[in-house]
Amino acid sequence: MYFFSYYGHWDGWNRDADKRTRDIYVLKNLKNRYTWPGQVVHECIARSLQNLSRGIPVLKLEEILRITRTMMREDFRQSRSGKYRQNPKTYAGLFEHEYSVDVTDEDWKAAADGVDLCLTNFYESDHYRALTELAPEHFLEIEEFAAFDFRGTKVRIKLDCATREDDRIVVWDWKTGKREEDEGVSPQMACYALYAHDAYGVPVDRVVTRRFDLYRNYLLEDSVTQRSLDDIQAYIEGSIEDMQGLLKDREENVADEVDFRKVERRRICLGCNFLKVCQPNI
Ligand code: SF4
Repeated sequence: MYFFSYYGHWDGWNRDADKRTRDIYVLKNLKNRYTWPGQVVHECIARSLQNLSRGIPVLKLEEILRITRTMMREDFRQSRSGKYRQNPKTYAGLFEHEYSVDVTDEDWKAAADGVDLCLTNFYESDHYRALTELAPEHFLEIEEFAAFDFRGTKVRIKLDCATREDDRIVVWDWKTGKREEDEGVSPQMACYALYAHDAYGVPVDRVVTRRFDLYRNYLLEDSVTQRSLDDIQAYIEGSIEDMQGLLKDREENVADEVDFRKVERRRICLGCNFLKVCQPNI
């Protein structure tokens, strides 16, 4: 999965790409009934916050829910028609349609209802109300690709949102999955804090992380301590070493498929986007 997601799909967007590379690119862009709702929620919230950051009023919740449901129906139709195979960036593609997975109408409805629940919890929350009261210039970034240097390696990052509150930077993360979040600073949030410290020049203990579990409607707020910072730095270092250890050429960032071991576990492979091109022994 890792090879296909980060190396194998490369150039698959070109019209003259060979068939397998093109297939990998199309499969990489597939969503599924669990990841698709999360993406819809993130995109919807990002649009609202971008409007707030430009001083543009945000629509009422009922209108947001209506528009979002319409967009999801359109995504679903596009996916079912298979248009994404021609242009996976323009048209939504779902794993369930690509692999002809039998999904009941109730299951699809549950995915859409989950979006309604997450959006309702967000727009009716005190946290959203506080965001609407921020001055536009206090929105620092919303779903933008960014990067920071970690001991000579570029670490790429995309925050759901960062805001300024007095002398603190607040890093927001919307959680839409059904898995419950652990307490304490997660490696992901510590990494975001490290980025915010680097990008905005504030001491790391002035970075606050807020994970808003939109599904269950609660917020976890943390700040990074020196201990968690040491842990995350060791974690990033180890991850970089693991990733680079798989490369054919570290300097040029070149990978070869044969160097990546297949998982070949039935339960995992049957839910993997790349099953068609990988053909594992399961
Ligand atoms: S099909 Fe299985 S082995 Fe192949 S990429 Fe997916 S998870 Fe890995």
